[in-house]
Amino acid sequence: MTENYLNNILLEVVQGDITRQPDCTAIVNAANAQLRTGGGVAGAIHRIGDPELTIETREFAPIKPGETVITSAPNFPNKYIIHCLGPVYGRDKPEDKILRNCYLNALQIADEHQIDSIAFPAISTGVFGYPVKDAAQVAMNTVKEISGQLKFVKRVRFVLWSEQDFEIHQSVLKKV
Ligand code: ADP
Repeated sequence: MTENYLNNILLEVVQGDITRQPDCTAIVNAANAQLRTGGGVAGAIHRIGDPELTIETREFAPIKPGETVITSAPNFPNKYIIHCLGPVYGRDKPEDKILRNCYLNALQIADEHQIDSIAFPAISTGVFGYPVKDAAQVAMNTVKEISGQLKFVKRVRFVLWSEQDFEIHQSVLKKV
């Protein structure tokens, strides 16, 4: 794990599985518009949380790129799941503003729920095709930008599935 303080928020970068972060109050889902199961992160989360999770999410579907929704976290050690729809790279433009909105909205909704710790996957960098380094810069710059406004969120973790993505996030973290 690599870590760095941004204002008063501890930023952590770890390699691992977003569904196995028991020490975070909330985890973030790289959701699809229908808030259903799918590949990647959404598949991993819904495999554990369904059927209860889809019963909860379907009330909110569909969502638009950049939007977020918060639910409980059935069968998880976490208290909440925050579902974010990232931009499809090359289709939903401007990609960087939409991705920024995901992180802004997720952190704001977390703070409204008095969440102290939150774990993000690398939203949009899988099936949605966002280049990982660019996405990491948007993600960490957005945490930095909003950090002064957060009252409850004290720890933000980035969970990277592959070693390569983990290393890219480590190097971006050092420069943020
Ligand atoms: P998107 O549709 O937003 O691109 P994906 O779920 O396809 O979302 O992928 C987002 C990122 O999450 C990719 O880098 C992928 O390798 C990674 N990933 C896939 N499964 C997991 C998991 N269980 N935990 C953490 N990251 C994951």
